[in-house]
Amino acid sequence: MKTYRLFTPGPVDIPEVILSATAKPCIYHREEMFRVLLTEITDALRKVVKCSGRVFFLTSSGTGAMETACVNILSSTDHPIVAVCGKFGERWCELCKAYRITPTIIKEEFGRSVAPEAIESALKKSGPAVVFTTLTETSTGALNDIQAFGEITRKYDSYLVVDGVAGVGADLCNQDEWNVDVLIGASQKALMSPPGAAFLSISDRAFEKTRVSDLPKYYFSLLLYEKFLEKGQTPWTPAITVLYGVKKGLSLIVKHGVAKNFQKHREMARYVRQRLVGMGLAIFPEHPSNALSVGRMPEGLDSTGIIKKIKEKYGILFANGQAEMKGKILRVGHMGNYSVPKLGRALDILERVLKKGI
Ligand code: PMP
Repeated sequence: MKTYRLFTPGPVDIPEVILSATAKPCIYHREEMFRVLLTEITDALRKVVKCSGRVFFLTSSGTGAMETACVNILSSTDHPIVAVCGKFGERWCELCKAYRITPTIIKEEFGRSVAPEAIESALKKSGPAVVFTTLTETSTGALNDIQAFGEITRKYDSYLVVDGVAGVGADLCNQDEWNVDVLIGASQKALMSPPGAAFLSISDRAFEKTRVSDLPKYYFSLLLYEKFLEKGQTPWTPAITVLYGVKKGLSLIVKHGVAKNFQKHREMARYVRQRLVGMGLAIFPEHPSNALSVGRMPEGLDSTGIIKKIKEKYGILFANGQAEMKGKILRVGHMGNYSVPKLGRALDILERVLKKGI
């Protein structure tokens, strides 16, 4: 199989130490060793996202954790608000609709972040509600001001559910302090692991809502997860080897220093943005994330052919835009196992292909 180096916004380039951590025999998930593993990854995650509520590790990709949040937090009579500024924000709307819930949608133009004031005026109109949104909007590279959202949702006695799939570990999100009721993440982004595991971290007040939720659920029932969590287990067979990777990834972040890790992502993002601008790309998001950098292609240049050429000739993969943004933007992922020199080498190639076509 011909492989290439990933500079995509997830899955990401996995460090060798994590790859070898995942290549170990499975432990049995009803044994003490699994309880220890679950405790260790939970404790390490608490240091990264500063949360004190229940943390559930799920065997699914990020979308599974998003679905878990919907079906456990909402009830059929709820009228949630979804704050959207890209494809992943839209996913919250699709999930609500799949369960016959009609949300109020606040939609920002792609490339912009959702204005906190828009959430405030929606809540003023609706009264207390569950607000779903995205920390790092991977389709555009935009970062939302979750801290400001959290102040507003708390002020209006509401709940804030945040998709941190692309952001956790790269963009700051202090769950408790920022009043985030539910935070979601997945293994294959800044936690530097293979895909297959996700987590959902939930405040006590939001967990109370799960006790009364009447939406259908089985595999993703948090009340069932709660029963098993008390024993240090998961209800179903967990993605054990992926969790070995998550443990290693989190321990690398904690060892390096959580604050330093965020600082490293800030520096990488600043560097990549500056290089993209130097090549004639305009930075697409108004408030860019530190997890990925997104450039708008110069007039008349399509990113599709450029990305393909770089992949085939140089074994490096950048990401294209999704759906209506295909060809118009180029996305560079830098979550986790990246550095300025490593990004520099990949960007030198991008520059060469852009300038000389070879
Ligand atoms: N939300 C965001 C912000 C994402 O970047 C992604 C994955 N690109 C998802 C949700 C969906 O995650 P998954 O593909 O792991 O289901």
